[in-house]
Amino acid sequence: MKVLLVGGGGREHALAWALSGSGLLTKLWCAPGNAGIAEIAECVAIGAEEVPALVSFAREHAVDLVVAGPEAPLTLGLADACEAAGLRCFGPSAAAAKLEGSKAFTREVATAAGVPGAEWAQFTDPAAARAYLRDKGAPIVVKADGLAAGKGVVVAETLEQAEAAITEIMEDRVHGAAGGTVLIEERLLGQEVSFFALCDGRTALPMAAAQDHKRVGEGDTGPNTGGMGAYSPPPAFTPELEAEVMARIVQPTLNEMARRGTPFRGVLFAGLMLTETGPRLIEFNVRFGDPECQVLMMRLQSDLLAALLAACDGELDRFTLRWSKEAAMVVVMAAQGYPGAYGKGSLIEGLEDAAQVPGAQVFHAGTNRSEDGSLVATGGRVLGIAGSGATLQAARDAAYRAVDAVRWPEGFCRRDIGWRAL
Ligand code: ATP
Repeated sequence: MKVLLVGGGGREHALAWALSGSGLLTKLWCAPGNAGIAEIAECVAIGAEEVPALVSFAREHAVDLVVAGPEAPLTLGLADACEAAGLRCFGPSAAAAKLEGSKAFTREVATAAGVPGAEWAQFTDPAAARAYLRDKGAPIVVKADGLAAGKGVVVAETLEQAEAAITEIMEDRVHGAAGGTVLIEERLLGQEVSFFALCDGRTALPMAAAQDHKRVGEGDTGPNTGGMGAYSPPPAFTPELEAEVMARIVQPTLNEMARRGTPFRGVLFAGLMLTETGPRLIEFNVRFGDPECQVLMMRLQSDLLAALLAACDGELDRFTLRWSKEAAMVVVMAAQGYPGAYGKGSLIEGLEDAAQVPGAQVFHAGTNRSEDGSLVATGGRVLGIAGSGATLQAARDAAYRAVDAVRWPEGFCRRDIGWRAL
C-alpha cells in the first residue's frame, strides 16, 4: 500500500510513525513533513493546503490512500477532490467538515440528533444578540460562528463582558467574516475531555480519550496555544462514560450526518464537558487533535493503516481497535516566546539520548535539517516528547526524563503536564 500523509506537525509525525509499523505499508510520502518524519517517510515539498498539487501527486504515484492530518485541506475539499480523481482519502468531505468549520452548523446537527449540549441561540443582528444576553444574564458564553484560531470564544463572567464580546465579534469584526454570526451559549461547568471516534459514515468505533493543556503557563495560566501537552487515558473518563458518549453523542451525530446526505468519514473529535449531569458536547473537530494524537498513537495496538482503510471502505462494523492499557503523556517543547513572536533556526541536540529513555518517543513538529545535517527549530511548537508507562505517573516520568536529555537552550516546556490528574 502506498500512502500519502498530508501535514507536517507532531500529529503527522505520530501518524507516520504508526503507519510505518503497518505490515500493509510499502511506501509512505508526507507533504510537506518535517525533519523527524523524513527519517521514516519521503517528504514532498507540497503544502498541506495545496489541494490540486496533492491530488496530482497522488495520481502520478498511484497512491492507494491519502491521509489528511490537519483540518484545512479537508475544509478546502481534499477528500472531494480525491474522490473525483478515483483516489481513497481518509478524512471527511468539505460538507461533513463543516462540523468543525461552523459552530452554528454543529449546534444545528447536534440539536437535530438529540445530542446533549449547552442551551444555545444564534444571531446575525447585534441588537437581537444583546437583548437575548440581557434576558439570560451572566455567566454566559459568546462565540464567533466561524474559525478564529481558538480566539473566537469568550466565557463571560459578567453581562458587560458578554456585550463587549458582541461588539468586538459582530461590529468590530476582530475575527473577520467568522463573526458574521454569533452563538450565545449556556456556560457549562466540569472537566474538559477530548474524545476520538473512528467513523466510516455509518459505524463509529471508539478510539480513546485524552486531556490537553491549552495555556502556555504552568497551572494552566497565560495565553492560549495549540496545546502544550496531553495525556491519555484521563482518569475521569470511565468505560461507562465512553459508552454513554458513543451512544448519546457520536452515533446520533453520525446518523444525522448520513440522513442529511453528508456522511462523516474520518476521525470525529468531540470536545466534551463532563458536567454533574453527564457528558455534554462543546465542539466537534474533524481530525485528530495535536498533541492528543501523539498519545493516542503511543497507545494504539492495532494496525493504523488497516483501520483507516476500513473506515474509508465502510467496513468498520467488521473491525476492532485494540488499545494498550498503559498510559501515555506528551510534553510539548516550544521556542521561547511562543505563542507570541519567537526566533527560528536555533540548534537542537540530544534527541538520540532522549529516544534512549525506556518508554519514550520523540515526535517532531517544527523542525528542519540544515545543510550540514544539524537539526534546527523552525516553528513555535517544535517537539513532542512522549512517554508511556503502566501508570500516568510512570508515563510522565519517562516523558520528562527524555525532555531532560534534550539540549535546546532556546526552547521551553511546561513542567506540570498532567497535574490535574496526578
Ligand atoms: P479550540 O481552540 O479548541 O479550537 P474553538 O475556538 O473551536 O476552540 P470551542 O472549543 O467551542 O472553540 O471553545 C473553546 C473553549 O471555550 C472550550 O475549550 C471551553 O473551555 C470554553 N467553552 C466553550 N463553550 C463553552 C460552554 N458552553 N461553557 C463553558 N465553557 C465553554
